[in-house]
Amino acid sequence: MKGLQERIRQEGLILSDTVLKVDSFLNHQVDTELVLQIGQEFKRIFGHQPITKVLTVEASGIQFAMAAGIALEVPFIYAKKKKAVTLSEAVYSAPVHSFTRKEDYLISISQKYLGPEDKVLIVDDFLATGAALVGLVDIVNEAGAQLMGVGCVIEKSFQEGRSLLEDKGVAVHSLARIASMAPGEIRFIDEASS
Ligand code: 5GP
Repeated sequence: MKGLQERIRQEGLILSDTVLKVDSFLNHQVDTELVLQIGQEFKRIFGHQPITKVLTVEASGIQFAMAAGIALEVPFIYAKKKKAVTLSEAVYSAPVHSFTRKEDYLISISQKYLGPEDKVLIVDDFLATGAALVGLVDIVNEAGAQLMGVGCVIEKSFQEGRSLLEDKGVAVHSLARIASMAPGEIRFIDEASS
């Protein structure tokens, strides 16, 4: 998505070698029109498959999963982050190590909302180390559902997330793939190869 790349170039703040801040249009203040376009782009990429649910993890994946759900006309589910295992209902859960917060947490979703009949598209804002997405993939497998693919808005391709997912046989599509970044200079992997 060229428009997305432009916004990242114009408004992205590089906080360190590995952390990009996009709070002005994606992660804090949200450009709703752009997010709806992102949903349509996920539909263009994945919509030929019989997807029944979109899955993400709270909080920063929610608006993109909702946009994809609207475009694909299916519900979306967001996994909740819990520290303690105080569960009032049967859940699927997976441990995740947070790249940005440097802490471990558990993600869970109710078994009521995902099962073997589901064909799932996983969506998230960033693909970095892949820990969050691997956790979601584990939950889909635990539920006996079928994973149709993973869609990320921004992929930092210099981190290991994509290869971790591809090693598990997962089809990954990212709308903006960052090859490298330094203050004033973000290089993208050409869209044709993404
Ligand atoms: P991962 O598990 O792939 O390492 O990253 C998981 C989550 O960390 C992403 O869903 C995203 O919320 C957050 N994250 C990772 N890298 C970045 C980054 O460079 N900038 C921002 N804003 N969030 C990030």
